[in-house]
Amino acid sequence: MAYDKPLPVPDPVTRPFWDGLKAHELRVQRCRDCNDAVFYPRAVCPHCGSRNLAWTVCSGRGTVHAFTIAHRGTPAAFRSAAPYVVAMVELEEGARLMTNLVEVEPSPEAVRIGMPVEIVFDDVTDTVTLAKFRPR
Ligand SMILES: [Zn+2]
Repeated sequence: MAYDKPLPVPDPVTRPFWDGLKAHELRVQRCRDCNDAVFYPRAVCPHCGSRNLAWTVCSGRGTVHAFTIAHRGTPAAFRSAAPYVVAMVELEEGARLMTNLVEVEPSPEAVRIGMPVEIVFDDVTDTVTLAKFRPR
């Protein structure tokens, strides 16, 4: 079945992130001046204002920082997927990213803050791969 949900539209700043996922690598930026991890992709470090950012490959491991269970898909393209877990995952490298948890029951009893997770590369089309996470 064709993928029917919205797809990312990479731009020059975000392209390395999406190319990384396609290659099954999770890449985030790190600032060469203040050494903080930067996500989402940006041209300027949100911590110190430097433009001296470098792409680094992450381990793909992290923990659940926050989550919710979506019982109604919003927007409409996600309705058939509900219920599903929307989570903020904190990577070992320090950046946090919004994602979906998979391979876990979408219930508040099954998911917990601090739960160790690892990346799942979801090849949703021939050209787009999304980062999702599962318990580890
Ligand atoms: Zn910085």
